[in-house]
Amino acid sequence: MFTSTSTGCATQDPAAARPQHVAAPADGTERLAQEPAAAPSRVEIERFADVRLLRYQVPGFAELDARRKELLYYLCEAALSGREIIYDQKYRYNLAIKRLLEEVVRHYAGDRGAADFQALVLYLKRVWFANGIHHQYSSEKFAPGFDFAALARMVKATPRGRFPVRPGQSVDALLAELEPVIFDPAVDAKLVSKSGASDVVASSAVNFYGRGLTQADVAAFYAGRLSPHDPEPVSLGLNSTLEQSSAGPVERVWKVGGRYTEAIEQVVRWLEKACTVAESDAQRIALEKLVQFYRSGNLRDWDDYNIAWLADKDSLVDTINGFIEVYHDPLGMRASFQSVVSFRDAVATKRIEAIARESQWFEDHSPILDHHKKADVKGITGRVITVVIEAGDTSPTTPIGINLPNSDWIRTQHGSKSVSLGNIIAAYDAVRGGADREWAWDAADAERGARYAALASELNTDMHEVIGHASGQIDPGVAPIAETLKNYSSTLEEARADLVALYYAIDPKLVELGLMPSVEVGQVEYERYIRNGLQLQLYRVPPGADIEQDHMRNRQLIAAWCYERGKPDNVIERRERDGKTYFVVNDFVRLRELFGELLRELQRIKSEGDYAAGRELVERYAVKVDRKLHAEVLARYAKLDIPPFSGFMGPRLVPVREGERIVDVKLEYPEDFSSQMLEYTDKYGFLPSWN
Ligand code: ZN
Repeated sequence: MFTSTSTGCATQDPAAARPQHVAAPADGTERLAQEPAAAPSRVEIERFADVRLLRYQVPGFAELDARRKELLYYLCEAALSGREIIYDQKYRYNLAIKRLLEEVVRHYAGDRGAADFQALVLYLKRVWFANGIHHQYSSEKFAPGFDFAALARMVKATPRGRFPVRPGQSVDALLAELEPVIFDPAVDAKLVSKSGASDVVASSAVNFYGRGLTQADVAAFYAGRLSPHDPEPVSLGLNSTLEQSSAGPVERVWKVGGRYTEAIEQVVRWLEKACTVAESDAQRIALEKLVQFYRSGNLRDWDDYNIAWLADKDSLVDTINGFIEVYHDPLGMRASFQSVVSFRDAVATKRIEAIARESQWFEDHSPILDHHKKADVKGITGRVITVVIEAGDTSPTTPIGINLPNSDWIRTQHGSKSVSLGNIIAAYDAVRGGADREWAWDAADAERGARYAALASELNTDMHEVIGHASGQIDPGVAPIAETLKNYSSTLEEARADLVALYYAIDPKLVELGLMPSVEVGQVEYERYIRNGLQLQLYRVPPGADIEQDHMRNRQLIAAWCYERGKPDNVIERRERDGKTYFVVNDFVRLRELFGELLRELQRIKSEGDYAAGRELVERYAVKVDRKLHAEVLARYAKLDIPPFSGFMGPRLVPVREGERIVDVKLEYPEDFSSQMLEYTDKYGFLPSWN
């Protein structure tokens, strides 16, 4: 499972504090330039349609030893070798369309400034961004900004093009085949249809099921294969296409010697090299089991691999590589290829460990009632990773948090790994300056925010996770909150964890622990939190609607409660200037006390299971939207011109050799999206256009 920036749970979702939509454009890139960085400091690379491409840094890579760099290089090659699989998995025509357009873009001999050619380039960029011709978020087919006649004309004017014709097919016949696919909006309109009204298999364009198969066919095929009494069931269908044959449906398995073998053989080749430089036996064994799975296609081997991967707890370098998430299958069985290659962020992980080590101190000094404190609190540790390369379904659009494996019985028996993608989150943070500036009262305020926003939100997220959820205890005899607080439980629990983090955000203890340079960092967090809770997040609420989403409710609950309670002392001041509303924190110490009071009350509600009090708080403070303020927020955001979707470009890994031996690996940063995508096709275009 993964956490993305536009959806997902705040427990693992720093997006709670920094939703994708709240990030800002080019003007925000200034901040990263102030940070020490070997790599280019420009974060936003380009924008088109409704997206922007960001570039992330890979801090710490240069300092890794040569062997780990070599390992990362092999794992990145393994990742990228499988990258085109997702195109074919999503739609049977994706690879042919991508390659046709890539040939035109490379070799078109006509006017490259003409509107039709520019429209074709834009369409291809959208295809690259979505790994296919359907929108990555809405799942709707893209409408090209050029027509079929223009496409045919441009193809004809591309004499050197090597077009993806089927065996024996002419270019004209290829174009005729693709005309309805690209231009008829009714043909395969939706990538994934989940509408209960239609046959979700027949009405989805996704290429997991052969043509002509219905939902009933699939159900019948698996009815006899399910093993409801197996305590360790495999993930049926995970790694195959179900196709129609004269003898009925058959699985075509994705493995060496099976479907996608041209790419999978390359993935395996690089994984085998990685085995030779693994950090430890545990890691080598896991990688060998992954190779075994790609060779056999046996789902028991997949489970064995996942267990071995969980057993490797100490390696610095890690990879996720395989058929993992099933979001694109309307039936939730078949998984998309994805890979994430990373190493542990030692500094961030140290920060988390430092907080976890002191968790008893935080519990003892908490403002909650003494009998709600745990005598022996254990902080929860997750990991922060630094992404080197992502490929397949996790690129260019990426999750910011990942929790694997997905198999329930493996999670129960062997646990799971939970990671947040630190440098990806940092890149999001780096471009949010414009939005922060819009809501800052003055230049000094904006400047301080820009300096500390990233650290402030990282610390807040860490404390939320490590000491927030872990703190406090329920009174004897009181049921779990899902039963006592029911529909209000997640809002109240997220608020409680946020309040623990907020309460300590300006505590000198954090400075003493070396986690922040001064309490100013926490003051920035206070301002950001209040503004987000009272204003910014309304950007994501449709006009006229109330707040539904639990995490948005929890933030408004805290901000609105403190605003109201602090009124007599003017703790949070509402100001206006030029028709714009601003919220300014006048008294951080008093605000901290208010956070503490609300925390004590929420802990009491949780500990006693006081449903009525929980409902009253949420309904009174968290749900209703100030319509006038909402309209103002939407208008101010519209002016900021922030694309709703972001994707990421990774670096290129270049090995430095002495003879045959790799002695170092350098990172290079491609300048633009198109050149990286064309380079990838050159190096990793292993699959046939028709699979
Ligand atoms: Zn949480």
